[in-house]
Amino acid sequence: MSEPVLFDPRVAAISPDELKGRVILITGAGAGIGRAVAASCAQHGATVLLLGRNGRQLNEVHVQITGQHGAERAAIVEFDLENALANDYDALFAAIEARYQRLDGLLHNAGLLGQLAPIEHYDVPTWCRVLQVNLTAAFVLTQILLLLLKRSEDASILFTSSGVGRIGRAYWGAYAVSKFALEGLNEVLSEELSGISRIRVNSLNPGATRTKMRREAYPAEDAALLPAPESITRAYIALLGPASRGVSGRRFNGQ
Ligand code: NDP
Repeated sequence: MSEPVLFDPRVAAISPDELKGRVILITGAGAGIGRAVAASCAQHGATVLLLGRNGRQLNEVHVQITGQHGAERAAIVEFDLENALANDYDALFAAIEARYQRLDGLLHNAGLLGQLAPIEHYDVPTWCRVLQVNLTAAFVLTQILLLLLKRSEDASILFTSSGVGRIGRAYWGAYAVSKFALEGLNEVLSEELSGISRIRVNSLNPGATRTKMRREAYPAEDAALLPAPESITRAYIALLGPASRGVSGRRFNGQ
């Protein structure tokens, strides 16, 4: 299928039931951008699998979504992307297959900032944790869920990037490197899947957004001046749904 040259997820037309009937897994769905995107996906008709490591937060999002849209429209996946082992991934695959048989969307949103420090002094264990959560877990999760995504009529994999994943910036260390690597994973995977599947793969930099991570990175900033996560969800819906059909291997901005 030819790619719409001017596709821009920030302004793409999306209908109120854009994601109707789709099953979408979102990592880091308990807080920040992931939580807002999960709520918006449900609002647009999706069934949302809420993956995260904090059961209390996930439960809040679950109550919110199922209260508004019905008991079948959300499920909690308590899962620690830093410490999960092969059998945890296998169990996740089996649970999704048993209940839904397929997956229509996979949003890699969970992320760790790590520390802001020069490479010369960057703490090695922190480096490993950040690469594990931001990059390696996204790779393993994609690999294990690929079979379920291949069963979808129109599947979308979306990686979450950052401005520092496209142009390097001093002191952003492992976080920046992990985001650069996700851009590489995006391009490699997209090319591997093009022509042999109906899965598209893209990356999205949400842009400065009022969340816990942003506060950690810019403690002196006036957070009130930043957009709330709920106000930047449009590009996610466009990239997870039919609006982006035929678009793959591209990198986008959310604002
Ligand atoms: P938050 O810190 O608010 O949310 C990150 C989410 O990832 C949390 O739900 C967090 O869970 C989860 N997470 C972290 N570690 C793990 C783990 N080991 N297992 C499972 N889940 C985990 O950040 P944002 O909402 O701001 O960030 C979302 C994405 O957007 C990230 O990929 C970030 O890099 C990217 N981004 C954000 C920008 C911004 O301005 N906010 C700008 C550019 C990119 P917990 O609450 O338990 O820590």
